[in-house]
Amino acid sequence: MKPRKSHIFITFPIFFTLVFLPACTKKEALPSRTEMIFGTVCTINLFESGTEQLYGTLFARLRALEDTLSANIGTSEISRINDAAGQNPVQVSAETLFVLTEAEKYARLTGGAFDPTIGPLVKLWDIGGDHPHLPTQAEIDAVLPLINYEDMVIDSAAGTVFLKKAGMKLDVGGIAKGYAADEMVRIMREQNVPRALIDLGGNIYALGDKAKGTPWRIGIKDPFNPLSGPAVRLDVTDKTVVTSGVYERFFDRGGVHYHHIFDPQTGYPVWNQLMSATVITPSSTAADALSTALFVMGHEKGIPFAETLPDIEAVFITEAHDIYATPGIRPDMTILAEEFELID
Ligand code: FAD
Ligand code: MG
Repeated sequence: MKPRKSHIFITFPIFFTLVFLPACTKKEALPSRTEMIFGTVCTINLFESGTEQLYGTLFARLRALEDTLSANIGTSEISRINDAAGQNPVQVSAETLFVLTEAEKYARLTGGAFDPTIGPLVKLWDIGGDHPHLPTQAEIDAVLPLINYEDMVIDSAAGTVFLKKAGMKLDVGGIAKGYAADEMVRIMREQNVPRALIDLGGNIYALGDKAKGTPWRIGIKDPFNPLSGPAVRLDVTDKTVVTSGVYERFFDRGGVHYHHIFDPQTGYPVWNQLMSATVITPSSTAADALSTALFVMGHEKGIPFAETLPDIEAVFITEAHDIYATPGIRPDMTILAEEFELID
């Protein structure tokens, strides 16, 4: 018994020293992390900066943002504003004020193509939800008067938001994932993270460069085959790439494709020959709002409009497989599938 005991005693420390100590001194970065948040798949890859603590901080922040900004969570600040529509202003956090102020800014900038008061239409159609519904014209006519960002009153000094008409509903599905991506980048920069990839349900942020002097290669999905390889490759550094497309959420009925990007004027999904609109820029909040707005505007208005905005690049893909792009992104763009053609 005795010799056997001492054998165990001696060999264990040696085993630990040889096998585990080197592994402890050279800490391995954790791989990427994925969670379902905002009703979609969110993945963050911190590469060499990937620690349990930092992934934990980032995903806790995303979940907190969902709790504050979701129109589907009854206790969120957005739901509280919606519940008080036509009755009283609601006190909200500085964060919600900021997101809604940005939403209002992009609504004004785009002449209402982007409109955060789109909520009643989102609920009526429920595209991508549990009870998708093809509304009658009467149902659409009943909610159209409720869609108008000018009836959203933000009082920054008081910290309140008020929807003037009963039945109005905010929905920040077209901008909040962008804000969330910007928040991820802010936290990462504070932590001196040199490079990372953030993908919040297709809302991409490529932080830093892939390697010294080498840009990230980000794909724009083939909107005809979103599960296959990308249609376009973009070489980007420290930028966000955000796409609004007809393939993200939809239902098909009677040969018609009903998707989730609405024309606030008509109350119907936008049918303008576009399959997708992508925005490339440093601010993901801007890119999210503008990709939705540019989709609503269409490429003919959207390209000259995007060219008036500083540091905003845009790529449109049409039903005819034509690709339209602002001049600034063309040198960093490669078309990967031969059926697509870049139009001058
Ligand atoms: P984008 O083009 O960026 O936005 C389209 C979305 O914006 C539409 O789905 C609609 O919500 C809204 N929209 C449509 N037309 C307009 C317009 N003209 N102007 C302004 N906005 C418009 N989905 C779920 O299924 N379950 C959830 O629990 C859930 N929770 C969410 C919580 C939050 C905080 C957010 C931001 C989103 C949530 N979503 C949820 C929505 C889901 O992630 C959406 O698919 C997503 O927001 C749409 O983003 P997109 O990038 O595909 O399209
Ligand atoms: Mg958007």
